Amino acid sequence: MILTTHLSLLYIEPRNNPKLCEEIDRKFQWFKTIIEDGIKGTYIDESNMFVERSYYVGVHVCVCGAESATYDVLLPNRMITNTLAYHYLVYHTDEIPRADWDKLEQLKMYIDLNIIGDM
Ligand SMILES: [Zn+2]
Repeated sequence: MILTTHLSLLYIEPRNNPKLCEEIDRKFQWFKTIIEDGIKGTYIDESNMFVERSYYVGVHVCVCGAESATYDVLLPNRMITNTLAYHYLVYHTDEIPRADWDKLEQLKMYIDLNIIGDM
């Protein structure tokens, strides 16, 4: 049996007030697009599974009041993220863990290698 392990990206809970980081906003427009184009569904933590076209009943609310959508997003490299991920990145830049920056770099490399022919 093959188990597919998903990597979760930017599941964080910021504590501080939001502050727009314009440099990150400019630099990560590609990430915004990738989230919008991702596959919608829900992530079931216990079984480490992503269920496509399923939705949560409620939303997640950031410390600053920003609300998530009712789904998570499966990215092209099989990482899973949430609809607040871009918000976290741009408005809570200082609170992004090192591991998530590394995963963003991996994602960008994957995209550059795999989608370059379509652009
Ligand atoms: Zn926020």
